[in-house]
Amino acid sequence: MALWGMVIDLDRCTGCQACVIACKAENNVPAVGEKEAKRERIISWMQVLTETDEEHHGEKMRFIPRPCLQCDDPPCTKVCPVYATYRNPEGIVAQIYARCIGCRFCMAACPYNAKYFNWHTYQKEGPGQNPDVSVRPKGVVEKCTFCHHRLQKARVRALAEKRDFDPREYVPACAEACPAQAIFFGDLSDPVSEVARLARSPRAFKLQEELGTKPKVIYLTEGEGGG
Ligand code: SF4
Ligand code: SF4
Repeated sequence: MALWGMVIDLDRCTGCQACVIACKAENNVPAVGEKEAKRERIISWMQVLTETDEEHHGEKMRFIPRPCLQCDDPPCTKVCPVYATYRNPEGIVAQIYARCIGCRFCMAACPYNAKYFNWHTYQKEGPGQNPDVSVRPKGVVEKCTFCHHRLQKARVRALAEKRDFDPREYVPACAEACPAQAIFFGDLSDPVSEVARLARSPRAFKLQEELGTKPKVIYLTEGEGGG
């Protein structure tokens, strides 16, 4: 069974936000409007966090693209009273919108602020939206799914063509859109896959690893060249 994961090379990321825009378009992530944005209610499944480097007197900027880290031991799923969020057998942390009661316990439990609450019905199904991804109603929590619908589509395509599914056919929108090719995606359980190889790199690190959440989004630190 696959274990889907992502490696993001911070040496390559230029902070251009192409991943953020591609994610919004692919997943029908709503624009909440200026008034809601001022109340810190922006919804952005992928965010590019910025850090200034004190060693360089704040002149150097570090960009950290942050989707849901798809923790292998996710604190968010453990607190949901209605099993509306769970880790699926391939390691993707899923949301079942129809079950979510909007208590936001999962948001409080996520140490990475990767979950978002729909304070309003921001959009309706319709033209211009991706029909593969459902629009979320008011009162539920949403987050990055690693573009899980793309996995389902790739599997169905392989089945229709009477051939085996190749894991390389499954690429989330952010990884596909990155012009700097900073985002790698694939099966971490396959030791010869590119993501598995990069995840073993001496440059690899995880955000707040000490929390024991075992993120499956792994970063490569900057400035030391090569993978
Ligand atoms: S907000 Fe929804 S998904 Fe999150 S803990 Fe509550 S019911 Fe579960
Ligand atoms: S990053 Fe947050 S939302 Fe994503 S799996 Fe981990 S705890 Fe859950």
